[in-house]
Amino acid sequence: MRIAMIGTGYVGLVSGACFSEFGVHVTCMDKDKGKIDQLLRGEIPIYEPGLDDLVAKNVKAGRLTFTLDLAEAMKGADAVFIAVGTPTRRGDGHADLTYVYAAAEEIAANLDGYTVVVNKSTVPVGTGREVEAIIRKARPDAEFDVASNPEFLREGAAIGDFMRPDRVVIGAESERARDTMRRLYRPLHLIETPIVMTNRETAELTKYAANAFLATKITFINEIADLCEKVGADVHDVAKGIGLDGRIGKKFLHPGPGYGGSCFPKDTLALVRTAQQHEAPVRIVETVVDINDKRKKSMTSRIVAACEGSLAGKTVAVLGVTFKPNTDDMRDAPSLDIVPALQAAGAHVRAFDPAGMHEAAKLLPGVDWRADAYQTLEGADCVAILTEWNEFRALDLNRCKALLKRPAMVDLRNIYNPAEMAAAGFLYSSIGRGSAP
Ligand code: NAD
Repeated sequence: MRIAMIGTGYVGLVSGACFSEFGVHVTCMDKDKGKIDQLLRGEIPIYEPGLDDLVAKNVKAGRLTFTLDLAEAMKGADAVFIAVGTPTRRGDGHADLTYVYAAAEEIAANLDGYTVVVNKSTVPVGTGREVEAIIRKARPDAEFDVASNPEFLREGAAIGDFMRPDRVVIGAESERARDTMRRLYRPLHLIETPIVMTNRETAELTKYAANAFLATKITFINEIADLCEKVGADVHDVAKGIGLDGRIGKKFLHPGPGYGGSCFPKDTLALVRTAQQHEAPVRIVETVVDINDKRKKSMTSRIVAACEGSLAGKTVAVLGVTFKPNTDDMRDAPSLDIVPALQAAGAHVRAFDPAGMHEAAKLLPGVDWRADAYQTLEGADCVAILTEWNEFRALDLNRCKALLKRPAMVDLRNIYNPAEMAAAGFLYSSIGRGSAP
């Protein structure tokens, strides 16, 4: 089979590479010349573990190519995937569909024989119908179907998620489109991945419902963590105690500074707007959005407390700025709220991140970027862990203590043990374990 992938970002590049690994001939197309040039040189424009080897292997096998030219990408394709960004529209919180609709226009201009147009971007209910209308208007006689196939991969574990997903969701309105999609996903069908075959609207809404549910779970445990601090309980034991109940499940019960990233913030907001528009408000999700926004901002007060109540003239060492480990993605990362607030309170901020500094430097002016964790700590009044990269999990505590001006650590990811930190002589605070700072 042959497919074209429009948009060569986190989703498009990973999906394209994984489909080519399944034996499909994939042409990834992007309008960003810099990205395509990099890919043609064998460089990977994003940080995603394992992606470099997977791309190199499939390029070498002749199944994966890159281009700026959609006509070339779509030549002979059974399906063309739309995997462009759907960020929050400025001003009203709805998903901005400019890129999706532009892609639909471009597809219309290049359709050549029966093609399934597959929406992989996260798009509000009704977008598939709109994409179909755009293409139909431009090409009344063309043979095509529009299907929805939302993506559930997580950055940092994207290849494993794509190759061994919990399920694949496909929304299609014709047997011909369903057949093409089944053939594309046949390798997953063979390993008994459940395939939820449904209509387009259901598939579109499923993606938002999944992300909103996960965001709610995180927000729930964050609030329980705050309560734990007041009453002397340990949130990890509470999470274990509830998570072992199969109806609740263990995952996504880890407290932290509030969810961030390229999906949860924008998708929860877009779902809220869609629901309001249809006069079926999702009030739980509205509350989740509000709590999470406030939570990210409130984290600064924990660092102020660790610095004896004032940040004026203090140096804060920040470890990790990406929204989670194993990615360079900075979209809606909690650090984007926390670091400027620290600076506004008079702190000098030093920071290190294993993969995110290039991107973060554009978004966080005035930060003194360092080459590793230990250099970041030198002479600082306090260290704050914002992202749980593996390399921060086993720092040499004696060395850290010797480098810091005061041995204060604010661990917003709970990667250290409070008793061990106290024994090591640290003024240690974390989330939801015993007492608040
Ligand atoms: P991204 O910003 O990394 O990549 C989007 C790419 O599309 C960019 O390279 C951009 O240049 C390109 N593009 C935009 N318009 C184009 C056009 N007309 N022609 C060709 N290329 C075009 O975005 P992403 O993180 O890959 O997300 C894509 C979609 O997938 C979004 O809707 C997102 O919500 C969804 N999604 C993302 C994730 C994730 O973890 N990042 C997971 C699941 C779903």
